[in-house]
Amino acid sequence: MQSTTKQNLTNPTHLHTHMKYKRILLKLSGESLMGENQYGIDPKRLEQYTNEIKNVVAMGVEVAIVIGGGNIFRGVQAESSGIDRVQGDYMGMLATVINGMALQSALEKAGLYTRMMSGIKMEQVCEPFIKRRAVRHLEKGRVVIFGAGIGNPYFTTDSTASLRAIEVQADVVLKGTRVDGVYTSDPEKNPDATKYDNISFQEAYEKGLNIMDMTAFTLCQENNLPIIVFDMNKSGNLVEIMNGKVNGTMIN
Ligand code: UDP
Repeated sequence: MQSTTKQNLTNPTHLHTHMKYKRILLKLSGESLMGENQYGIDPKRLEQYTNEIKNVVAMGVEVAIVIGGGNIFRGVQAESSGIDRVQGDYMGMLATVINGMALQSALEKAGLYTRMMSGIKMEQVCEPFIKRRAVRHLEKGRVVIFGAGIGNPYFTTDSTASLRAIEVQADVVLKGTRVDGVYTSDPEKNPDATKYDNISFQEAYEKGLNIMDMTAFTLCQENNLPIIVFDMNKSGNLVEIMNGKVNGTMIN
């Protein structure tokens, strides 16, 4: 099964020479994994994401992934149920590991090489995050999933995506959402909202646009790491972005 991937990576017909990005950090929210369900993981959605990821790996793109945990548990929801916030945040981090394991399994079933690296040590399940090892895995064409956030409470998986992207020197953070970019206001509430194709960090900040939380946003801005917000549920979008087409909003 694994040799298929190797073939894809070395077969020149699969390599697109005009690839815009060599190494990407894909951020997927936990909620997107629910698909049509109210909770947990929808196998159809998992399969769809796997196909999208497999297509860009076949192009020779190095793929790192941060996946959220909101479909299972969020730290902020802990407080309302009487659970201590810090405890709740750790529960949220463990939820991202559950999602990461599901994604890893789906990717491997599709013939990809993968590694999961965790911000909290859990050696029976995955490797601890070590920057140099992460880079090495990526260079070898393995899809690397970063689980358990950054391993600290009071952070989010968006911040994890920004930080890990900077650490492994990804060219871009791709934030996969269920809308196709950043709008002047919420397009699900306001029919007059218009989409930005491109916006600077400064302008997005001044307009108070909700792209990522401020920690995540500032990390990207200060390190000149562009973000692309795009619709992950539309098949083929990820490949098109690799070909230089921004089917979403570029923040840089
Ligand atoms: N979390 C954390 N530190 C981190 C990453 C995540 O404490 O570095 C916790 C936090 O409680 C968060 C939960 O894990 O609510 C799940 O992640 P997130 O809400 O970012 O997932 P998403 O919204 O992308 O599904």
